[in-house]
Amino acid sequence: MGLEAFSLKDKVALVTGGGTGIGFGISKALAEAGARVLITGRREEVLRKAVEELGGNAGYEVMDVTDKTAIPAFVSRVNTEYGAIDILVNNAGIHLKKMALETSDDEFESIMQTNLLSVFSLSRECGRYMTERKSGSIVFIGSMAGIFGIDRVSAYGTSKAALTGLMNNLVTEFSKHNVRINTIAPGWIESPMFLNAVNADPARKEKIENRIAMSCFGNPGDIGNAVVFLSSEAGRYITGVVLPVDGGATVNF
Ligand code: NDP
Repeated sequence: MGLEAFSLKDKVALVTGGGTGIGFGISKALAEAGARVLITGRREEVLRKAVEELGGNAGYEVMDVTDKTAIPAFVSRVNTEYGAIDILVNNAGIHLKKMALETSDDEFESIMQTNLLSVFSLSRECGRYMTERKSGSIVFIGSMAGIFGIDRVSAYGTSKAALTGLMNNLVTEFSKHNVRINTIAPGWIESPMFLNAVNADPARKEKIENRIAMSCFGNPGDIGNAVVFLSSEAGRYITGVVLPVDGGATVNF
């Protein structure tokens, strides 16, 4: 098996939040590996520009992942209009930096809807088709905050930790149908979400850098390459794994 084991030629990939940051890095890597990539998000202008940059036969659909009643029809339509979805990347996510004592129930629920419930709904709907076709790769974008307790991210960290539980359970049901589910736990990756947080606080940026074993931040392409590996033939025997892509931040914590 040579480099062709990493090829995603003729595969259809759906990437939520694929227009920005890590999602765009993932979409680019998938497109470069030969996949037809469909990206989603709430802002049409952002998606349109991203698709122009991706080139080839990439496409976009405006879709709010918290619109749970729309998800079954959305997935069904994508399967018909773009082709059977081979790869689902649940990347869309929102962050909340707040002490638990200051986090309201509504804020907690909103994080859960975007970061967890949408992942369940999309994986269930795509899983319906994938298990029938006996082929598919689902990737969750988790976080180090789902592995460790980190201060002021109780809602976000809980949503990311719960993804591991969801993955473990889906693996028990989907594996016999040759559908694999893995989670990537990015460390500190230069994306709009991350830069907004650290640019406002240069001292924090330096502190974080010191916590990364490799002493540098990652970029969205690093996550994209890991998604390509996990979703390609090269990763065909890997399922139920949480893969940190973090420059050694996890072991250096
Ligand atoms: P961005 O803010 O750049 O990306 C988030 C993406 O999610 C945007 O494209 C956004 O599009 C989309 N999104 C958010 N809410 C919704 C919604 N309700 N419906 C549809 N799309 C939505 O951040 P990152 O690229 O950094 O984050 C991507 C993922 O990586 C997230 O899951 C995040 O938790 C995770 N992560 C990031 C880390 C980092 O260091 N950057 C570290 C660990 C994990 P739009 O607003 O147009 O809807």
